[in-house]
Amino acid sequence: MPELNCYNKGCGKKFDPTKNEEGSCKYHPGPPYFHDAYKIWKCCDKKFTDFGTFLSHPGCTLGKHSNEKVEDIVRLSATKEIRPEKQEEVIVWSGLNKPSERSLASGRMQNLTKEITPGASAAVEKYLATVKEKENNGEIPIGAACVNNSCKTTYNGPETNSTACVHHPGVAIFHEGMKYWSCCKRKTSDFSSFLSQEGCTTGEHKWSKNERVDKIREDWFSRLGYIHLNVYCKGSIGDQCVFETDGLTLRTTIVHGFGDKITDKNYDLFGAIVPEESKIIIGERKIEMVLKQAEPLGWPKLVYSPEENQQESVQS
Ligand SMILES: [Zn+2]
Ligand SMILES: [Zn+2]
Ligand SMILES: [Zn+2]
Ligand SMILES: [Zn+2]
Repeated sequence: MPELNCYNKGCGKKFDPTKNEEGSCKYHPGPPYFHDAYKIWKCCDKKFTDFGTFLSHPGCTLGKHSNEKVEDIVRLSATKEIRPEKQEEVIVWSGLNKPSERSLASGRMQNLTKEITPGASAAVEKYLATVKEKENNGEIPIGAACVNNSCKTTYNGPETNSTACVHHPGVAIFHEGMKYWSCCKRKTSDFSSFLSQEGCTTGEHKWSKNERVDKIREDWFSRLGYIHLNVYCKGSIGDQCVFETDGLTLRTTIVHGFGDKITDKNYDLFGAIVPEESKIIIGERKIEMVLKQAEPLGWPKLVYSPEENQQESVQS
């Protein structure tokens, strides 16, 4: 008899339907409930803040395994300080949220298809044309961007230094769909309203120069069988970026800041992806990695490694 997956919450084992005895399955009759930062099993009233720990918490009830899919739709109540763009979010429970077996990796790294948006190419061309003339004379090139968060000033000559730099001195926090600056904590779920939040502090401009950036802002979500992993950076040089995967590991080298910045990011993905059906969209302000899931199961986390976490707090 072929083995079936048990979709009872908290079990996730494989079973032989001819030997499915009472008491062989340890599960949570549920429902799962999400409130503020807590993930709660209503059946046994166990609370967790970490999604992975919540999912792997052993069941409280004994019964038989079941191959029937359960889709408990639960509402995640919005916290009060969150701005009202999105009152609530819906999480769909898909039963078998376990990481893919690491042995599923093909062992062969292959490049993912890249798509560079016209806006991104135009921005890079324009920028490079502006800085070319002033190259190699040690001066700050006209058109150099201020790297302080949310300051949109560009260098027009020494007189630009006397203008105020209105920026966020804090770091960007991307957490559970919310985006905000650690300095002023105005939360929003919308990336463009996050970007347009005017700085909370006035200071001096800091003109861009070549630098290696270890951390970079990112967030992710899954939709219709695809994982969307967004990395937020300006002025990406698509031709110089590398994105490769063996189906489970995703390695990226991102050249951004109009060629002034380089960032390496490596992900040990929670689930397997199909490289041939995945692609990378390089835009003016973000790189979107659209990764086709090998199995249509929800990912509680982006990465497999338990010490990694979804929150990235970074300055760029
Ligand atoms: Zn329970
Ligand atoms: Zn079971
Ligand atoms: Zn701020
Ligand atoms: Zn500035």
